[in-house]
Amino acid sequence: ATHLVWLRNDLRLNDNSALWAACRRREDRVIALFIATPEQWRRHNMSPRQADYIWRSLQLLQQGLAEKGIALHYHQCDDFNAAVSYLQQFCRERQVKALFYNYQYEFNERERDAAVERLLPQQGVTVQGFDDGVLLPPGSVRTGNQKMYKVFTPFSRACLKRLRDDLPPCLPAPEARADATADEPSTLTPFDYPRHSIDEQLFSPGEAAALRRLREFCRQQVADYPARRDYPAYESTSRLSVCLAVGTLSPRQCLHRLLREQPHALEAGPGSVWLNELIWRDFYRHLLVAFPALCKNQPFMAWTKQLAWQQRPEQFNAWCEGKTGFPIVDAAMRQMNATGWMHNRLRMITASFLVKDLQIDWRRGERYFMSVLIDGDLAANNGGWQWAASTGTDAVPYFRIFNPTTQGERFDKQGEFIRRWLPELAAVPDSAIHDPHGWAKKNHQRLDYPQPIVEHKAARQQTLAIFEAARKAS
Ligand code: FAD
Repeated sequence: ATHLVWLRNDLRLNDNSALWAACRRREDRVIALFIATPEQWRRHNMSPRQADYIWRSLQLLQQGLAEKGIALHYHQCDDFNAAVSYLQQFCRERQVKALFYNYQYEFNERERDAAVERLLPQQGVTVQGFDDGVLLPPGSVRTGNQKMYKVFTPFSRACLKRLRDDLPPCLPAPEARADATADEPSTLTPFDYPRHSIDEQLFSPGEAAALRRLREFCRQQVADYPARRDYPAYESTSRLSVCLAVGTLSPRQCLHRLLREQPHALEAGPGSVWLNELIWRDFYRHLLVAFPALCKNQPFMAWTKQLAWQQRPEQFNAWCEGKTGFPIVDAAMRQMNATGWMHNRLRMITASFLVKDLQIDWRRGERYFMSVLIDGDLAANNGGWQWAASTGTDAVPYFRIFNPTTQGERFDKQGEFIRRWLPELAAVPDSAIHDPHGWAKKNHQRLDYPQPIVEHKAARQQTLAIFEAARKAS
């Protein structure tokens, strides 16, 4: 029988549940398909760098699959509806008997898969979906009342217990097909979507590079992660987020590799802090499934719908371009604009600045991040923004407002990171790097750097008033 593996954000051979299941019986013929949906990607604000990473990873995957005797077919259509129609046609033409894919958890993706699960069986195709891009299936980690956790710490505790009791396996790549037929793979024509070349030093496409980076990180860096992860000047985090977002790597591969280097990571030993970040990733995915409104531009906490956001087009542009006059915010935004990646601490600082200093709707920031980040991922991005905006579950309380200057002083004391991205501050001494205009004024210097676009203390008071008014109104 012909088995079809529909690849989406699981661009790998190893530990790929759908691919593994499709290859289980040696006598079946296995083919694979990737469908590009540029119009859908546009609606989801996928960044041109992520498109480039996918494109290059796909080429490598096609080679890898060919070595296993599996042809990767490729098609481009507009959106998910068109993809479902194409899939029906493809299955008919190739006499596919069984379709295999790994679930995606966003609302539109789930609607698409529901349509597939309704339509394909009508034409005699069995459909099998797998929970694959997570450590534990969404819906399977529940409170005593059988509900989804709304707070991270007990969720994390429950996950760790589950993982200790029953570690999910990590599947190998399938063996080469003995009866590989001369099925020609399609030529991969470039997506009809803007692509922005990625810096391959920072983000090498494909599964092999992801595995190399994972091994190196777990061997050399994970032990120092708790002490160094908050300082953007150090290269101390894994930078595996794009691999996990696009699926050149699975979270189970991360967990197994981590345990090999740090066997006590599941019992709060070394490595557990990094593992906790992988659990945050699962948490936000599980939340999307339990609360689909999160995929529809809705805040988690209903009362925050009343917040009186400001428009401020000029200040929004200054934030996007890294010209706010707050060095840590500007360096962070320029890092993201230039590379497609931003350090986690800086994502928190810049998000907080947009929402709590400029009083601009978090959804505009969320969209901007998505359109630039190489690792853009609805669950993590939405989770991060709703955390910073105090609209989410287990978010920072609204009255706790980051001071962008003191955050800079704490996490980039000497301005090592700031200097990398703001060459116009080269003459400013370390001790004044977080208040360059104060220094310039005292020393009669001219700086080619914007004045702060907002006065933090006053903005803080206004923000508190806006939140309090919304709370009273609801
Ligand atoms: P590491 O520190 O090495 O962590 C390992 C992995 O754990 C990451 O690759 C990521 O998959 C996961 N992870 C780490 N922190 C988080 C977190 N807070 N929430 C969910 N997963 C996490 N992450 C994305 O992958 N895509 C996004 O679009 C995204 N947007 C964000 C927006 C905001 C406002 C905030 C505050 C955070 C966002 N994050 C996002 C989470 C986090 O900043 C990145 O995952 C992390 O910086 C990626 O770097 P790394 O791979 O070196 O992480």
